[in-house]
Amino acid sequence: MTDQTRTAAEPIIIDKEALKARYREERNKRLRPDGNDQYQRLTGRFAHYAVDPHTPFVERAPKTDHVTFAFIGAGFAGLVTAARLVEAGVSDVRLIDKAGDVGGTWYWNRYPGAQCDTASFVYMPLLEETGHMPTEKYAHGPEILEHCRRIADQYGLYDHALFHTEVTDLTWDDAGSRWAIRTNRGDEFTAQFLGMGTGPLHVAKLPGIPGIDEFAGHSFHTSRWDYAYTGGDHTGAPMSNLADKRVGIIGTGATAVQCVPRLAKACKELYVFQRTPSSVDVRANQPTDPEWFATISEPGWQQRWLENFTLNQTGGLAAEDLVMDGWTDLARRVITKVMSVPAEQFTPEGLMTAFEDSDFEKMEEIRARVDSIVDDAYTAEKLKAWYRQLCKRPCFHDEYLQAYNEPGVALVDTDGKGVERITENGVVAAGTLYELDCIIFASGFEVGTSFTHRAGYDVTGRDGLKLSDYWADGMKSRHGIHAHGFPNLFIVQLTHAANLISNVPHNFTEAGRAIAATVRHAIEGGYDEVEVTKAGEDEWMELLHGGSGLGVAGILGSSECTPGYYNNEGQPGGLGSELLLAYPAGPVAYFEYLKRWCSTGDFEGLEFR
Ligand code: NDP
Repeated sequence: MTDQTRTAAEPIIIDKEALKARYREERNKRLRPDGNDQYQRLTGRFAHYAVDPHTPFVERAPKTDHVTFAFIGAGFAGLVTAARLVEAGVSDVRLIDKAGDVGGTWYWNRYPGAQCDTASFVYMPLLEETGHMPTEKYAHGPEILEHCRRIADQYGLYDHALFHTEVTDLTWDDAGSRWAIRTNRGDEFTAQFLGMGTGPLHVAKLPGIPGIDEFAGHSFHTSRWDYAYTGGDHTGAPMSNLADKRVGIIGTGATAVQCVPRLAKACKELYVFQRTPSSVDVRANQPTDPEWFATISEPGWQQRWLENFTLNQTGGLAAEDLVMDGWTDLARRVITKVMSVPAEQFTPEGLMTAFEDSDFEKMEEIRARVDSIVDDAYTAEKLKAWYRQLCKRPCFHDEYLQAYNEPGVALVDTDGKGVERITENGVVAAGTLYELDCIIFASGFEVGTSFTHRAGYDVTGRDGLKLSDYWADGMKSRHGIHAHGFPNLFIVQLTHAANLISNVPHNFTEAGRAIAATVRHAIEGGYDEVEVTKAGEDEWMELLHGGSGLGVAGILGSSECTPGYYNNEGQPGGLGSELLLAYPAGPVAYFEYLKRWCSTGDFEGLEFR
């Protein structure tokens, strides 16, 4: 399909029909009727996989007080929203989290090699406010976790926070215009306003592989890395206990791409069990030069960088590209291709073809990169991703493919079928038993189930209305933040809004600002309640459903995308598909809209009373 001997100057010649047929073939191999049901939660006999290995549990007295704002989730969504609320004059914001500290995903995911996949300067929130200079273009996990703590310290968020605490019940008290909050620690307190930012990927899952609980060796999920077993630590100390161990890792998504290189160096034998390869492009990480940073960090710099990244990444015409990375390169290529379309072909179909062509070229390059790095030809062939780049989370790494050249590292490709079985001694894949001392599950997180199912609690709004019932046939909201029937409730997540997946914290930054402005308006106006009207919600839903269905949503629904959590495991419809519903004009337009919405002071669609 590709002439691997071509030089950089020669054009890539692609047999598009053959490529599409290959993509379809790879997708069909992987489609399974059980979709999301193929996975297993970390509950019941799997509950030990979910135990917090990082912070000891400390007894405390239950809370029975009142706060102005309670926020469930102390990750980026909670931290950023709380920081904006504090700036707006709300001093008693209570963060509640099942983890032992702030940090959310960066609290839990301490696997070796964890680092942000989007440039630190736009990924790490509140850099300007805290005065922190990221030490690398893509900061590693310990620095990001430390930054979360910095934010919590600076904004006084530890004063009211409750950790190792899980909400069990949230009920609106209409007479008192407040939320009653109950937790698994016996807390029964109230809050005038309530926020929820529990993260799109916070419930770890295991593959439902037969025999998974029969394994007699050691095992853990990447989101609960067991350094007591592996040796080493989060900061990169070598995992010396693995020097005599045979380790298997199941999964080759973004997490595995980051930890496999570290495991490859530490284990006696490492077997990487692959169902679908990730596309792995150049990362080009580098340390930050403080002199350079001083030149960019004038007042307002981070907001400018955020807006510039989003504009470049989502296909806008920007005068410059400040971040210059794989994400913006991806969009720049599409734009260049689209701009080269002759006037007579400037139709929706012509534009989609240009979009498709640029994707084919990019993926051909990524596949050629595998050949240029991986020594063993069979392994290289199996590491090639046969789908469009945005079908799955694009990965970027400078050591992942190289890890397969290390002695003792073997890729076990299952030709899309996945691991067959786990036995007392190891893993059976592609008809062979691999005897192991340890199995690491890099099997990801639950997506595509209902919000309340993932949250682990329900929300009872006005007149006893349950959020699970209100959203039984699909989520309804305005801005993804407000739901009718649930006064003083703010939900911080991506869907029904910008849905900017290339830089998740940017969504939270803008939502946090809008929530703080709304709460300040309510407090300063002496209002007890704020709620989206039915008309305000309906109008928003009509706008979202009126979108074109082109762009990323169109790609993911296509027959050339292998299944995964981006496309509801290849099954159209269902709750997982809702993830794609976003502001039709795109993230840049959404953020501009939200800024206007706040600044006019009308808060259109909301009722204050
Ligand atoms: P993913 O869901 O992306 O990957 C899970 C992996 O497990 C896939 O490779 C999947 O294969 C594989 N798998 C599932 N079942 C089986 C089976 N039965 N046999 C063999 N393999 C199986 O989870 P990750 O934790 O890697 O990543 C989740 C998300 O977290 C990312 O997409 C990203 O959004 C985020 N993330 C972000 C990072 C960052 O920003 N720095 C770093 C890491 C993660 P298949 O593809 O065939 O389903």
